[in-house]
Amino acid sequence: MSLLRTIASLLAAGSMLISAPLNTAAPQNDFNGRLFLCNRQFMVSPEYMPENLRSADVPGQVRRMREEAAAALEEMFAACKAETNKTLISVSGFRSYATQQGIYRRKLRSVKGSVERAQQYVAPPGASEHQLGLAMDIGQKSDPHLNASFGKTKGGIWTRENCWRFGFILRYNEGWESVTGYNYEPWHFRYVGKEYSKSIHDAGVPFETWLAEHRTALLTELIRSDRILRPQPPAEEPAQMPGATPEADSKTEAESK
Ligand SMILES: [Zn+2]
Repeated sequence: MSLLRTIASLLAAGSMLISAPLNTAAPQNDFNGRLFLCNRQFMVSPEYMPENLRSADVPGQVRRMREEAAAALEEMFAACKAETNKTLISVSGFRSYATQQGIYRRKLRSVKGSVERAQQYVAPPGASEHQLGLAMDIGQKSDPHLNASFGKTKGGIWTRENCWRFGFILRYNEGWESVTGYNYEPWHFRYVGKEYSKSIHDAGVPFETWLAEHRTALLTELIRSDRILRPQPPAEEPAQMPGATPEADSKTEAESK
């Protein structure tokens, strides 16, 4: 009986996981979602093109992002100006696969064909978050260069500390290279939405690490929410009447299921 119950539980759990929406159980695979993962291990196809791109109304260039991210960027830049009097500028938002391929090939030529050296600086095509329309390279107007010095500017420090308020996270922090596969980039911010950004910011770990923990929590919650897998109170055994007939026994068993 307990074996049957175990099998029933496993079957129920299996069908539940299969029937759960993909973007609930595996948000990192939902290419329209805010938690879509793109890095050197999880690359997007050349055809991948996000929907709802628009130019953010901020100073700078290459200002296209997904609608929701563009609105959040405008809010963040305005808040930085109000709180620090520094003007942030967009340096590079959405980049298509072809654009990334061009940048990568130029870098490859400049380092005499060394893939290892090229990838220290530039993501190969398909491995850049910029293709998602959810990333923005940010500079400060008075110091617009994309290098580690941005992280020491007033605007750079403010953005790192406050980006989560607007749904962004710093994607490639110092010391995370072995997990993210990218060097420290104080200018690269990724939009994940306000629903998640505080949790990720507070965790102080790379997006990849947080995603793995988040997924475990989602799966655990899915399994716990199934009544069958919850510890059940012991079923009350029906009192056995002395001299009960086999027919009565089978009826009792049927009713207890
Ligand atoms: Zn970037």
